[in-house]
Amino acid sequence: MANSSKDYRINTRIVKVAHKDGNKASIPPIYQSTTFKADSIGSFSTQDYDYTRSGNPTRTVLQNHLASVINCKYVYAVNSGMACLDVILSNLKPNDEVVAGEDLYGGSDRLLHFVERKHSIKIKHFDTTNLPLMKSAITKKTNLVLLESPTNPLINVVDVKAIAAHAHAVNPECIVVFDNTMMTPLLMSPLELGCDIHYESATKYLNGHHDIMAGVLATNRDDLAKSLFYVINATGSGLAPFDSWLLIRGLKTLSIRLEREQQNCMTLATFLQNKGFSVRYTGLKSHPQHDLHFSQCKGPGAVLSFETGNIALSEAIIKNCEIFSTTVSFGSVSSLISLPLKMSHASIDKKVLAERNFPQDLIRLCVGIEDIQDLIDDLDHAILLAKREVGPKL
Ligand SMILES: *Cc1c(COP(=O)(O)O)cnc(C)c1O
Repeated sequence: MANSSKDYRINTRIVKVAHKDGNKASIPPIYQSTTFKADSIGSFSTQDYDYTRSGNPTRTVLQNHLASVINCKYVYAVNSGMACLDVILSNLKPNDEVVAGEDLYGGSDRLLHFVERKHSIKIKHFDTTNLPLMKSAITKKTNLVLLESPTNPLINVVDVKAIAAHAHAVNPECIVVFDNTMMTPLLMSPLELGCDIHYESATKYLNGHHDIMAGVLATNRDDLAKSLFYVINATGSGLAPFDSWLLIRGLKTLSIRLEREQQNCMTLATFLQNKGFSVRYTGLKSHPQHDLHFSQCKGPGAVLSFETGNIALSEAIIKNCEIFSTTVSFGSVSSLISLPLKMSHASIDKKVLAERNFPQDLIRLCVGIEDIQDLIDDLDHAILLAKREVGPKL
């Protein structure tokens, strides 16, 4: 028998939540309390809990559980994915330089430009898929590198290991940060690829039901853990007890959700390709970076995007879907459809999007766990109606 939960495989570790409860509850209870009593005035500073901003037993169970799933030393749960990036960026100093991707999550782009204006931090955006360019862009002056892979919604793959190794070789102090929201710890282990901090929006796959906002920060470095926790405690961005409890519950089904979502997504990718659309999905052999993706990930994920060739046609397809609801975000059990240009990426300057060759007609699908035949029928029907509506005008 394995003596620690770390010896079990990940699909077991994700279900097995370690916790101690005086009443032997099988499920960790919620400590919906902001304060904890002191045994004596003298013991206050030495006990585990005093005030929930600094620590709460339900949050601790979640963080320990995630550390077992991610297989790392430290995990902090905060109240959104953006709060993760905010905590990381709070440790930068004026004139520090950040190298980030061009095809970055819209909210990350906005926060980076906020700190650039407010705190004189230099932000440089590059095409992270271009390895020689990234190697020349990251110099000894670079303090932080921010990566995502596959990017969303363009589904570009970044060589994480090569970029992290280069950044550390030119500046051992450089902090390489990876946003793993798209892949989750089940499909990708950024710390093992050489990154210093792995964070993700738990609002998406980790929780999986679109009913809480949460973020997760992971690291193996003692110094970084200390500075991240300092900001979380100072600002109060730690995840609330009830949300921590819901995230513990949501996490348990992550591996079966992802398995089904990936299967559905793969079938839809092939279906759309057979319809003649240009599909971006790492699960397809035709994806130019298919091999690179699978050299660093265990699966393709469940987000794809495709171009229809016409923005009116794209909008009509989205309007005519019934099961795929029109909404931003991803990672829930239900399927979603969106037009990134007018939704998740609307906050990015139009000129910048044009420079980055962002396709206006790009549709993004985030695939859920519904019956695959219903998903195919829904899209097929929506495409038929859309062609009828838009066709004559094409
Ligand atoms: C959603 C998302 C975020 C932000 O997370 P929130 O929980 O919405 O704050 C960051 N990065 C990526 C890639 C995301 O998809």
